[in-house]
Amino acid sequence: MFDRPLPSLIDLAIVGAGPQALTLVTHILQKRQKFRNRFMVLDPSGTWLEQWRHQFKAQEIPHLRSPAVHHPDPDPYSLRRFAENRSMELFPPYDLPGTELFEDFCGEVVKKWELTDRVYPGKVSQVLPIQWSQKPRFQIVLTDGSSLIARRVVLATGAAVPNIPQWVEEIRTPYPPSSLCHSQQVDLRLIKDLSGEDIVIVGGGLTSGHLAMGALKRGAMVTLVVRRQLRERLFDAEPGWLGPKYLKGFEGEDCWYGRWEMIKQARDGGSVTPALMLQLRRAARQGKLRILENTEILGAVWKDEQWRVRLNGEVSLMFNRIWLATGTQFNGHEDNLLTDVLRIYRTEMINGLPVLDENLRIPGSQCFIMGGLAALIVGPVARNLSGGRMASDRLVKAIIKPNTMLPLGIS
Ligand SMILES: Cc1cc2nc3c(=O)[nH]c(=O)nc-3n(C[C@H](O)[C@H](O)[C@H](O)COP(=O)(O)OP(=O)(O)OC[C@H]3O[C@@H](n4cnc5c(N)ncnc54)[C@H](O)[C@@H]3O)c2cc1C
Repeated sequence: MFDRPLPSLIDLAIVGAGPQALTLVTHILQKRQKFRNRFMVLDPSGTWLEQWRHQFKAQEIPHLRSPAVHHPDPDPYSLRRFAENRSMELFPPYDLPGTELFEDFCGEVVKKWELTDRVYPGKVSQVLPIQWSQKPRFQIVLTDGSSLIARRVVLATGAAVPNIPQWVEEIRTPYPPSSLCHSQQVDLRLIKDLSGEDIVIVGGGLTSGHLAMGALKRGAMVTLVVRRQLRERLFDAEPGWLGPKYLKGFEGEDCWYGRWEMIKQARDGGSVTPALMLQLRRAARQGKLRILENTEILGAVWKDEQWRVRLNGEVSLMFNRIWLATGTQFNGHEDNLLTDVLRIYRTEMINGLPVLDENLRIPGSQCFIMGGLAALIVGPVARNLSGGRMASDRLVKAIIKPNTMLPLGIS
């Protein structure tokens, strides 16, 4: 826990304490230990990776989808070394770290870099560009009304907006909130028994598969509604996006809309891993799971304590719960923390993604962005752990440049 009062002035404020922020901090310290006293991290939890932990536990995700080289420490092999006596927790085919192994490893990373007490417990409500002693600064306002002034700010909030299908917006009948949830709201740990319940899960991605297995384990009958065919893929984007194989062409594309299309095609909707596909197909054979492919929901009505769900092909089915595993999108227009920054430092927005400079700054400002919102520069894996490393490489170059390490009042 952060053991000091909120400082009034700081060189670098990092908003969010997820894997991306942790990656950035370790990469900065690796290059410049002296930077230790120049930054602070803010997160409502007051601790590292709380949101990450929550989402993995809530969906009972047994292991990561990304191989063991992707993690917040600068040494790519350190997770593999950490796992030397825990090799059972590296899952085939590419040593995918088990959830607990990854969590313990990240705890080690936090200790190794002496970061345990570096996260201030606070939610940022506004990032205001201001003039302070005639210099451009940011006033970082917290929800409790307190604030601090930062010369530079990094937004690492993982700010993803849930995709809510149009037919959900059109539901007019009142319904109990627990009967229709986006995957981000489902917490399997709080649901003990689903026997006798029919659940429809919308979406064909990994989350859909995890939730289906969680519901089946609790005795539910599950229907998966997938817009296309349920597809099997090891990773959510081709490994070629981690290096020059695809990034060269991406960076050579001058048109921002062209880049946006490349990102969309690279991620290409949802897919499940071969291992999960096997489990789903087995459950389908046992008659516990129904997979409706090339199917879309057209509408739903809550009546007599049940959902009547209308599907294409004039079919209607009854369910007790609807879970939307419809994914999330990154949209700078809907990010509160960007509103005031973008009013002063204007930049083009491409379908919600801001155009940033090569160090991931909003051009002309000292406001940096990590995560999915940086995809126009980092590429399709921007939101992933590997994207955190790629973003950190770009940010570190700008953050620890000698002429940016002046005493706070000077530059
Ligand atoms: C179910 C699931 C599984 C995934 N599996 C993988 C995987 O195996 N491999 C992979 O590479 N990627 C995976 N991803 C992608 C995943 O998003 C990243 O790995 C990682 O969690 C992103 O890190 P982040 O720091 O950007 O976001 P987060 O983990 O969401 O962290 C952001 C932090 O910012 C904080 N925050 C937000 N708003 C504010 C505010 N206003 N003020 C202060 N703090 C704020 C939040 O509290 C949170 O702690 C997965 C994603 C999901 C949803």
